[in-house]
Amino acid sequence: MNQIIDKLPNIKISTDPEDLICYGFDASGFESSPSAVVWPENTEDVVKVMKYAYEHNIPVVPRGAGTGTTGGAVPSKGAIILSIEKMNRIIDIDPENFNALCEPGVINGKLQQELALLGFFYPPDPASMNFCTIGGNVAENAGGPRAIKYGVTRDYVMEIESVLPNGQIITTGVRTQKGVVGYDLTRLLIGSEGTLSVFTKIRLKVLPLPEEVVTLICIFDNLELSGQAVSRIISSKIIPRTLEFMDREAIKAVENFRPVGLPKDAEALLLIELDGHPSAITKEAGKIADICKRLGAEINMAEDEDAREKLWISRRAVSPALYHISPTKINEDIVVPRNRIPEMLMSLRRLSEESGIKIVNFGHAGDGNIHVNIMVNKENKEEYQKGLMLVEQVFKETLSLGGTISGEHGVGLSKAPYIGMEIPKPEIEIMKSIKKIFDPKNILNPGKIFPD
Ligand SMILES: Cc1cc2nc3c(=O)[nH]c(=O)nc-3n(C[C@H](O)[C@H](O)[C@H](O)COP(=O)(O)OP(=O)(O)OC[C@H]3O[C@@H](n4cnc5c(N)ncnc54)[C@H](O)[C@@H]3O)c2cc1C
Repeated sequence: MNQIIDKLPNIKISTDPEDLICYGFDASGFESSPSAVVWPENTEDVVKVMKYAYEHNIPVVPRGAGTGTTGGAVPSKGAIILSIEKMNRIIDIDPENFNALCEPGVINGKLQQELALLGFFYPPDPASMNFCTIGGNVAENAGGPRAIKYGVTRDYVMEIESVLPNGQIITTGVRTQKGVVGYDLTRLLIGSEGTLSVFTKIRLKVLPLPEEVVTLICIFDNLELSGQAVSRIISSKIIPRTLEFMDREAIKAVENFRPVGLPKDAEALLLIELDGHPSAITKEAGKIADICKRLGAEINMAEDEDAREKLWISRRAVSPALYHISPTKINEDIVVPRNRIPEMLMSLRRLSEESGIKIVNFGHAGDGNIHVNIMVNKENKEEYQKGLMLVEQVFKETLSLGGTISGEHGVGLSKAPYIGMEIPKPEIEIMKSIKKIFDPKNILNPGKIFPD
């Protein structure tokens, strides 16, 4: 490592033990020490690091803010961590063509703030938006509550500049609203989890802020009926901008952690938001309230921006609240077709009762995306083992309902052993061949996505 420090004198590189510890983990709970941490400040720095690593066969792991929950940014054996946190400039916002050009280290929430000043917003809003990076969002194809109406990161990436493992710079995609020339390499890079290239610039589509927003909280005393409400709202042909779900344990956890007055005795709640023209959304909010009332729910409406923000702070705090209770919990993010949510919720309750292990559920119900939290303590080996067995059962149940084992968190290290449950061998072989084309020496984030 001293050699790389000598060869790249103008780039900040550290082998200090405190840096190796701080950059050795992400939000997945996996840990491993890198051999060094490198902080490039621009594309040319990334090129220099990658050329050096390629020549010397040193693995490199790109890292945004380390909020990934599947171990994507955890150092592979002997790897250098390439932290993009210093590449954090919003280079340009183009209000005429509705797009923004960013460096990958821009924090999602920071971009939202800057856009709002100009009357725009960037729809993907992961619950981690105040601390995760745009580069990490693109690498994981992140979603968020607004995905039900606006889609996920993939739907907003126009152009990516990135550096290949051998140091070559490529630019994929278009600056225009449309473009179909050649294979869609941009889509291939989105969700590639830092295994194909290092993103250095990203152009994103942005949208004008909606005229008005209405926020409802629908409180249920029956879990299954809350799931039925989700499918009835969707089949009534209303598309809210968020349709978030919390079960009893999630409500209790967040109320104990950051109280905003949610009813701790409820079985479930839905946080529903509509945006658009005031007259249209008032009518739709009325219809949604009727659907939920008929299923026995109590309905409350956020009265102003302040009340709305409090609810979202509370929703975003669910995951930290659960980590607070159980720091080694297993966190999955399965998706089922929306009309199968009631069945999935009942299966999760059954699996929890049969195993005696608490499972807490919340998430983007409008997308069928449920964050399943298996509340186990890693110190208790027997309990943790049971938790891992539950993961497999949850995945089997999900796939049998026509679902997928990850809606937005990716595969990384934690789901690599299970990828074969969902994706057949021939398709996995095609993916591995693509990886070889981009990274013939397997130096970029090796060991992620595909089990060794
Ligand atoms: C409390 C909490 C709430 C969350 N809520 C959501 C949610 O609602 N929706 C959601 O989708 N996710 C959510 N997540 C997961 C996580 O925040 C996202 O996956 C996010 O996109 C990761 O961004 P990051 O900057 O932290 O990336 P990191 O964790 O640093 O990295 C993630 C992956 O991206 C790769 N990568 C990072 N930067 C680059 C780059 N410049 N070039 C190439 N590859 C790169 C890394 O190698 C790694 O594989 C949540 C996490 C937490 C802790």
